[in-house]
Amino acid sequence: MKRIAIFPGSFDPFTKGHADIAKRSLLLFDELLIAVGVNSEKKSSASHSERVNSIASLFETEDRIRVISYTGLTAEKAKEEGVCCIIRGIRNEEDASYEKMIAVANYKVFDLETIFLLAEPKLAQLSSTVVRELKALGKDVSGLLPE
Ligand code: ADP
Repeated sequence: MKRIAIFPGSFDPFTKGHADIAKRSLLLFDELLIAVGVNSEKKSSASHSERVNSIASLFETEDRIRVISYTGLTAEKAKEEGVCCIIRGIRNEEDASYEKMIAVANYKVFDLETIFLLAEPKLAQLSSTVVRELKALGKDVSGLLPE
């Protein structure tokens, strides 16, 4: 049976940090679903479908990665897609304590495992928020985004 994991996020935008986590996930799983969530609380710069399309074109030649869009609970989408594990990236203590709380809930309520991965150290401080802020100031952010 294929081992499929889901990597959920807002990916606004999808950074080199996200790409690194996706690449590492393929070492552990046969397939990865990159799931672009609609998050009403987060301010978004690119439209949702634009984001989905640009991530999909990035992984056009990687047939083990599928990019999907979803609304609602990540765990429900995970169950619907028949995946066994949720992948989340950890950058710092703040990420860790927040993610731990969600992971415990997803395990208890949905019987879903969460796997935490670290990005390459030089990408560890990279966040979509920083990219959006630099972009708003007119800075060149191309070095922070996958080619
Ligand atoms: P969310 O809105 O769900 O936090 P993000 O798009 O901000 O979505 O992030 C998706 C996932 O990628 C999260 O688990 C986040 O911690 C992780 N992530 C983002 N940037 C990095 C990075 N530079 N290194 C490791 N993980 C990262």
